[in-house]
Amino acid sequence: MFDKILIANRGEIALRVHRACREMGIRTVAVHSEADANAMHVRLADESVCIGPPPAGKSYLNIPAIITAAEVTGAQAVHPGYGFLSENARFAEIVEAHGLAFIGPTADHIRMMGDKITAKKAVMDAGIPVVPGSEGGVATYEDAKPIAEEIGYPVLIKAASGGGGRGMKVAETADKLKEAMQTASAEASAAFGDGTVYLEKYLGQPRHIEIQVLADTHGNVVHLGERDCSLQRRHQKLLEEAPSPALSDAERAEIGEVVRKAISAIGYRGVGTIEFLWENGEFYFIEMNTRLQVEHPVTEMITGIDLVREQIRVAAGLPLEITQDDIQLEGWAIECRINAENPKTFAPSPGKVTEFHAPGGLGVRLDSALYAGYSIPPYYDSLIGKLIVHGRTREETLLRLRRALEEMVVSGVETTIPIFLDLLEEADFVNGDYHIRWLEEWLAQRNG
Ligand code: ADP
Repeated sequence: MFDKILIANRGEIALRVHRACREMGIRTVAVHSEADANAMHVRLADESVCIGPPPAGKSYLNIPAIITAAEVTGAQAVHPGYGFLSENARFAEIVEAHGLAFIGPTADHIRMMGDKITAKKAVMDAGIPVVPGSEGGVATYEDAKPIAEEIGYPVLIKAASGGGGRGMKVAETADKLKEAMQTASAEASAAFGDGTVYLEKYLGQPRHIEIQVLADTHGNVVHLGERDCSLQRRHQKLLEEAPSPALSDAERAEIGEVVRKAISAIGYRGVGTIEFLWENGEFYFIEMNTRLQVEHPVTEMITGIDLVREQIRVAAGLPLEITQDDIQLEGWAIECRINAENPKTFAPSPGKVTEFHAPGGLGVRLDSALYAGYSIPPYYDSLIGKLIVHGRTREETLLRLRRALEEMVVSGVETTIPIFLDLLEEADFVNGDYHIRWLEEWLAQRNG
């Protein structure tokens, strides 16, 4: 096992990784920008290294500075967290070329899943159901037209290198196809330097259901059930729950087994998430994330498995201690992503936190790097904490969520807490009756 790990991230996820390391007796090295010198992850780590000025491009994405920090501190492994360099295949390669372990999959798997076309082909060949669409990239309108007719309108034009919903356009009818392709391709070229697009059937009101997997380097793979992440605004998840209110035990077992076999066939290592759209009882693969997800705690709460600990053990070459039969899903868990943002306009609200009180009690977990007196810097994303509650049933979990939200105090900045309190008043949400477009419709009404 490693005795020192460098955590190449910031905020709550840097702290989350630090916590797992601490419990495993592993020392931690925090890296930070000049703006984060007083951050909690820096204060709690055993050592810290400043890696550059505030903009992420000069610090948290600064590969030479991060590698140097690992070398001077004698760290043996690098945990990338999520975001930043976590899905950067080149970074994984450079880490390994310096004799350090990358706590994540191989660079080849990151690359394979980072391109949506190669990802779709790889998982399809491994038996995972995908959204009907073009086989690979579509270069011209003339090529696209017959494919769109075959899959049926509306169709979605997606960028091979896409992310965060960019480079994605819907064409409702044939006469919109040409323009939608051009816009999607231009957007993708500008954002990702790759204008390759492909076609998919556009699903109207699906749910977003994702399966968590965990694989070691000895051929063992387990799945840890699903998370329902349908509550999204502009493709950003706001609230996630596990299990999904929509799936039966039989459906879960079936898709879980399909995914487990596929991940095994692909030879993947570490944690990963297979994202699906789910409509009328059918699963359609959309992408695989080759890293720890923001919403991983809901899975931890219902399985009792520390996913970061497992990631570290797998990266050290140890075999999984659990088999599929050991995994029991217990109760219900819901996570709210609390952002420092105006709860109506979603405008970022950085600044000094004057008062802070964390909710607690049975079944309540707060993953946050906040403290009273902390100044939220304006340079990074606005997530300031994840409130995760666990109960025996969904009903109990919803009651617990309300009381935990009511207990939480964050003064000095605006937060998205009021949105969740309002959401708990909404019958569709309480009944688990929602899809990926529901939240935006609800927010539009709410904010009139
Ligand atoms: P990104 O990497 O940009 O997030 P995804 O492929 O994960 O791209 O898709 C992002 C979101 O776009 C999904 O969560 C879903 O809301 C929507 N989406 C993707 N594919 C489809 C589809 N075929 N039909 C309808 N909506 C889709």
